[in-house]
Amino acid sequence: MINANQTGPRPAAPPPIRLAVIDGRSEPAMRRRLERELRTATVAGAFVLHYQPRLCLASGAVEVNEALIRWPDRKRGLIPPNAFIPIAERSDLINLIGAWVLLEACSEAVSWSRARLSVNVSARQLQSGVLPIQLAMALEQSGLPPDRLELELTESMLVDGSTDTLLTLSAIRDLGVGLALDDFGTGFASLSMLKRLPLTVMKLDRSLVRDLPTNREDAAIVRAVIETGHAMRLTVVAEGIETEDQRAFLSGIGCDEGQGYLFSHPLPADQLRSKLGLTRS
Ligand code: C2E
Ligand code: MG
Ligand code: MG
Repeated sequence: MINANQTGPRPAAPPPIRLAVIDGRSEPAMRRRLERELRTATVAGAFVLHYQPRLCLASGAVEVNEALIRWPDRKRGLIPPNAFIPIAERSDLINLIGAWVLLEACSEAVSWSRARLSVNVSARQLQSGVLPIQLAMALEQSGLPPDRLELELTESMLVDGSTDTLLTLSAIRDLGVGLALDDFGTGFASLSMLKRLPLTVMKLDRSLVRDLPTNREDAAIVRAVIETGHAMRLTVVAEGIETEDQRAFLSGIGCDEGQGYLFSHPLPADQLRSKLGLTRS
């Protein structure tokens, strides 16, 4: 088992990604080609999920594994999500990809002997109204108990604070599914808006963690955010923990859980299962 307090040698870096940039700034022709390739990949179910553990900082126990999508390509290697999710979000593809991720991840997590699953959700899935149906189908088909699943949402998805968004999130929460606010600190969420949302987890963005513990401003912000999160009865998670100093500092100021390369890079499902001993006997 991974133990936050006995981290051992750092894991090897993942293989280099042989793709420079395919994002919103690419040439229109390249973007169109990429969208065509993405459509073909979606129909063929050509994606894979890697999983990154999230640990209790006090005990070192793995609490949750986060599903992170990759697109394996013969020529370009393993394409990371930031290179294709924004393109999928500009079309209907994101709903197809989102449904696949939910079902695939839930079907994997149902075989784990312990630890919950978290899945990233796109704004389009929430705003187009398809999320509750996708979720119900994934839980039904996989047999994963709802309280073993958590959805990760970003601040930008929630800032409108619309009644529809609130009702959808409350219905999901009523099922027993957890709701995490991802990348906290990068958007413009107001505290009063956060208070109205049925959240269970707050994930501090790694930009707030990167310069800890030496940067005094960041240290003060992180302390205040942890206190605020706890006042709202949220589990507070720090993302992007890469050093033992960051882990010790965050644990010392009461941060509940952590995720980052110090503990583990995201891993393919079979490697995660054997590393954590997750397979049921
Ligand atoms: P995220 O949900 O905030 O995921 C964390 C990202 O930080 C992951 O990048 C992870 O590999 C990386 N990371 C984890 N620990 C460390 C660390 O210690 N140092 C550094 N430098 N990085 C770390 P990844 O897998 O490339 O994912 C990027 C983003 O793509 C995710 O950010 C998430 O917003 C999005 N994404 C991933 N999978 C999905 C998906 O299935 N659906 C949707 N809609 N978005 C996804
Ligand atoms: Mg996430
Ligand atoms: Mg994040």
